[in-house]
Amino acid sequence: MVPSPTAGIRGQRSLLRQIREALASGGPAQARLDMVVRIIAQSMVAEVCSLYMRRAIGDMELFATQGLDPNAVHVTRMKPGEGLVGEIMRLGRPLNLSDAPNHPAFSYRPETGEDPFHAFMGVPLLRGGRAIGVLVVQNRTERVYSDDDVEDLQIVAMVLAEMVVGGEIAHAGPLSGIDLVPQKPERLKGARFAEGLALGVAVLHEPPVAPSQLLAEDVGAEDARLKTAISELQAQIDFMLEGQHGLVEASYEVLETYRMFAHDRGWNRSLEDAVRNGLTAEAAVERVRSEHRARLGQARDPYLRERLHDFEDLADRLLRHLSGEGGKKRELPDNAILIARNLGPADLLEYDRTKLKGLLLEEGSAASHAAIVARALDIPCVGRLAGLRDRVSENDPVIVDAETGEAYLRPRPDVIKALQARIEVRLQRRAEFAKLRDTPAFTRDGAKVSLLMNAGLDVDLDILDETGAEGIGLFRTEFQFMVAEEMPRFNAQAALYERVMDAARDRPVTFRTLDLGGDKVLPYLEAEREDNPALGWRAIRMGLDRPALLRLQLRALIAASKGRALKIMFPLVASVDEFRSARALVDHEVAWAQKRGRPAPARLDVGAMIEAPSLVWHLDALLPMTDFVSVGTNDLMQYLFAADRGNPRVSDRYDFLSPPALRALETIQKACAETGTPVSVCGEMAGRPLEAFVLVALGFEALSMPPAGIGPVKQMVLSCDREAAHRGVTALLRSTAGSIRNEVETLARKLYLAN
Ligand code: PEP
Ligand code: MG
Repeated sequence: MVPSPTAGIRGQRSLLRQIREALASGGPAQARLDMVVRIIAQSMVAEVCSLYMRRAIGDMELFATQGLDPNAVHVTRMKPGEGLVGEIMRLGRPLNLSDAPNHPAFSYRPETGEDPFHAFMGVPLLRGGRAIGVLVVQNRTERVYSDDDVEDLQIVAMVLAEMVVGGEIAHAGPLSGIDLVPQKPERLKGARFAEGLALGVAVLHEPPVAPSQLLAEDVGAEDARLKTAISELQAQIDFMLEGQHGLVEASYEVLETYRMFAHDRGWNRSLEDAVRNGLTAEAAVERVRSEHRARLGQARDPYLRERLHDFEDLADRLLRHLSGEGGKKRELPDNAILIARNLGPADLLEYDRTKLKGLLLEEGSAASHAAIVARALDIPCVGRLAGLRDRVSENDPVIVDAETGEAYLRPRPDVIKALQARIEVRLQRRAEFAKLRDTPAFTRDGAKVSLLMNAGLDVDLDILDETGAEGIGLFRTEFQFMVAEEMPRFNAQAALYERVMDAARDRPVTFRTLDLGGDKVLPYLEAEREDNPALGWRAIRMGLDRPALLRLQLRALIAASKGRALKIMFPLVASVDEFRSARALVDHEVAWAQKRGRPAPARLDVGAMIEAPSLVWHLDALLPMTDFVSVGTNDLMQYLFAADRGNPRVSDRYDFLSPPALRALETIQKACAETGTPVSVCGEMAGRPLEAFVLVALGFEALSMPPAGIGPVKQMVLSCDREAAHRGVTALLRSTAGSIRNEVETLARKLYLAN
């Protein structure tokens, strides 16, 4: 029987140290690598140990071997995906085979003389989630390597990857020209999440561990550090959970799952094992994280992917505890472009806003929290950039082109120059818009259009004065809940609402009650998995089923108004009965406040969002019972066209500038005009000049939009003749085409773009 190689690493932690010494030993790089594979083979009781590295052109090359024919070194090459080595690169995870030649991906290379070897175990050399090589051990017999063996070889591979890339050996001899870190300029095509342009340096949201921190000097001390950090993390999560007692019973379950992960014995044991094997606590976290990524990252099942997200989040928290930083903000360079797989809205707010110039995401959708917050903060953001994290390193120069939806990594000087010119043009245009700040928005034929701002966080308030918005047409109250670690209590809610009303001074603010559910899930609020979350338990549905939550919010709004005027609006009302019930809760809360001698709002307007198509055919019933309505075109269009706004495959498929969409809007506008009900449009389309042109043409007189839209839309309004636009657009509504965008553009060019 072949002795277990387990003894190799677990018994002699010194293996890692031997590798480190071999790599640092001076002498030719090749000799040092040869020494490393020899040490590994010996320690793992393997007849063969080989190291393959990826060349810049993508081929895998045999770089060093103990046991195969030495003449094959730098001769044997494999195309991406070819052979078992290619398979490991492709999957980014280990392969453990007792009979390798029988594996479908096996490719026989006579020059290596490897045919008598059956047992094969290979692991990728991962760096920052990117495979740069493969480490293989082989034995003649049909030996079965244990899970511990795989784990051990992975640790060796991690250390080796860091040392090869970060150490002095990196650019020496045969290693020059291999693909250790991406160096070539690259352009990635993604999707535009938040408008704008930015040039800066990459800051990785999850930076890889530096090589110097990989190996522990004192295993006992390291183990103690890890244990302390884990118990701090657990205590923090337990505390979050305790904070929820009695508040929202259902939220408990979700937090409980999260807590279960934090206390997960398997997770803790993997971390402790990695430290016992000689890694620092930080390196252990990274090691276990990359294993989870490899295992769950390719899962298509959304549940598994979410679990990966939970583990990633826990790993980040744990690293923060280890660094002793708790929740401290990370230092950023002055022109930081944040690079992440995906972000929660709270993550973005942890960075210094004045230094954060752009955001690139590998995943996400335009309707995701991160994208909405990026828009609110006016940070250009491009998302869905496949392979982003593998292709960019910390401090790489990068461009965010959120006009075309592209990212340039390590751009060439001519690309940078062209971008700088475009940034200059943008700045000039912004300066022009700023000049219009105090000019009221009247069309050329004298129609007043109120331009309002969408907001949702404190940070937005500074922008209110800058934009010249006439008020806040949509305050998304759920943002406060989304960025919080735990449910904001009454005082926190009331304090925010009061700050908003203070900042707005005499300008109106329309507070929308919590619009949670759908894509807006809270870690601490019930999020029962639903097959169709956009059609599920969200917004006012949740509010009416959990009246305690909604009433608490209404009470906070009334208290914050301190006798001033107050406007409250309910999201996703789909039936007049829902509006009736919600309004009754408001009345109840006003009466409650008065009974206690607290001031009632000087004027109270209660409105509904028109987002569910059902209401479009019941406006005669709805409008008499509302004080105002606001059209949420983001949702209205998703329901009209039956196309999930968060699903990139379908979200851009149907044009808002189409007869069915515009006829629905026309119906709403006319019904409101006939009944004298104030109406605004507050979906994102209101902030795009061409779409806003059509809304003005249809007769809408109040538009609420992201702050960056106000300048361009005002410029459009000032140069537009509403009557002529009305005639033109009304005629186009009779079109039999699916989209009338081109026709609208021609009309707009005639009526306002030419001015
Ligand atoms: C809308 O649906 O158009 C809207 C303004 O609300 P939200 O985007 O927050 O769903
Ligand atoms: Mg909506």
